[in-house]
Amino acid sequence: MDLTPMLIGGEWRAAASTGRAEDVTSPYDGTIVGTVPVAGMDDVDAALTAAEAGAVTWRRTPAHERMQILLRAAEIADERAPEIARTISAEVGKTIAEATREAGRSAEIIRLAAFEGTQLYGKTLPLDANPGTGLDKIGFTVRQPCGVVVAISPFNYPALLVLHKIAPALAAGNAVVLKPASATLLAALTLAGCFVDAGLPAGVLSVLTGPGGELGDALVTDPRVRKVSFTGSTATGERITRMAGVKKLSLELGASCPVIVLADADLELAASAVAEGGYVNAGQVCISVQRVITHPAIAGDFLDALVPKVESIRTGDPSSPDTEMGSLISTREAERVRQAIETAAAGGAQILTGGERDGSTVAPTVVADVDPSAPIAQDELFGPAVAVSAAADWEDAISQANGTGYGLAAGIFTADVAGTVRAIRETDAGSIHINWTPLWRADLMPYGGLKGSGIGKEGPRWAVEEMTELKTVVLHGRPW
Ligand code: NAP
Repeated sequence: MDLTPMLIGGEWRAAASTGRAEDVTSPYDGTIVGTVPVAGMDDVDAALTAAEAGAVTWRRTPAHERMQILLRAAEIADERAPEIARTISAEVGKTIAEATREAGRSAEIIRLAAFEGTQLYGKTLPLDANPGTGLDKIGFTVRQPCGVVVAISPFNYPALLVLHKIAPALAAGNAVVLKPASATLLAALTLAGCFVDAGLPAGVLSVLTGPGGELGDALVTDPRVRKVSFTGSTATGERITRMAGVKKLSLELGASCPVIVLADADLELAASAVAEGGYVNAGQVCISVQRVITHPAIAGDFLDALVPKVESIRTGDPSSPDTEMGSLISTREAERVRQAIETAAAGGAQILTGGERDGSTVAPTVVADVDPSAPIAQDELFGPAVAVSAAADWEDAISQANGTGYGLAAGIFTADVAGTVRAIRETDAGSIHINWTPLWRADLMPYGGLKGSGIGKEGPRWAVEEMTELKTVVLHGRPW
């Protein structure tokens, strides 16, 4: 298959010295989707050198001109949405319906970021309120881009999670070196093409295709890089934290998201929402429902409502419009998930439906009577299974919801306002959804976890803030 080149310093090209290339294959049936270069260390250096120069050009470009280029990129992303959707579906094994929804959000993220890049307001400082300081001084703050941003993204949402990094970074005036997940390089390259074709100056955006395990350290330790924006597993995030040195870090990491279903909940609503929120993208979503904590009085009724809905999810060829759940990202990942379900059953949990694997597809699964301290509740599963356990009251439910090392998002189904207020205060999660599951995101909202789920927030307004630096300026006049 023809090589899809990577982007370095405005040039689309192969790997510089190695000339190596690798196929990207469909996780569903192994067909070759495309071929991409395998970048080496000299490509990393070339991308960072280009970014250093690009960062100077771009920070000297007025915000309104940056915005115009981003708005053109959004138009192009809209035009190319069907191509982006087909690429996502083929690379990830995600259903074409889900991939179409993802591709359709691309342009809107770019537009939101383009606007936020024009909103870099400062504040005046009331310096004379400081004892000993008079009216002869005026202080204010100025925001400026960080400079070179390294963006590293995961496989599961190869358009959304790339754009939630590069669009705000570019809108705020930074140069970006993007290292997308090796499984999903083609979608990232297609999106980068939208910015290049919109007129982004050379060097402002580079996309390196190659293994994170080999290129990652060089990217995150390089002193030319001021900001690392990473989304991926907690293990890789922890490594980046240790390696990066004095840099600004945003880390969007793993999760084991809980849903609490209380005795007064609308059970039909809760069951329908969980039957969706646990299985979108075959459970490979950081905000997927992994745990359901039910009140014993309604546990049986909730499961009776949930299981038939999960059984009715149609699995199969991701490219078919009839398929409701596609494959996992690889057969190896599917086997890991199957084994985790088997281990839960060996520990006393009941598999009510699912648990089987066929190639890279795992059947939608519900596991009941789960011990909250078991690995299937504690460790991120990243697969299409929901683990159900019991909690006697609010106290117990909140304690179980908080009882893992993660804190990305949570959902609570109840009609009890007083209990809800308490739960909002006491649940350690970056997003809390009342009467819905954690699997919900508006692209403009702040998004990011507590505890082992990360540091910092995405969502264009917050990402622009994290991708800029605050300077304080004081004008020293003379007393008059
Ligand atoms: P991953 O294995 O950690 O990989 C993420 C990215 O890091 C990939 O681009 C990978 O490159 C790169 N990488 C690997 N080793 C590296 C190193 N030593 N230094 C720097 N970069 C390195 O994660 P994944 O399997 O792609 O994604 C799944 C994880 O992402 C889950 O844990 C999920 O919860 C998390 N996630 C979190 C959020 C959130 O918002 N909190 C959103 C989505 C996903 P290669 O692909 O080349 O190895």
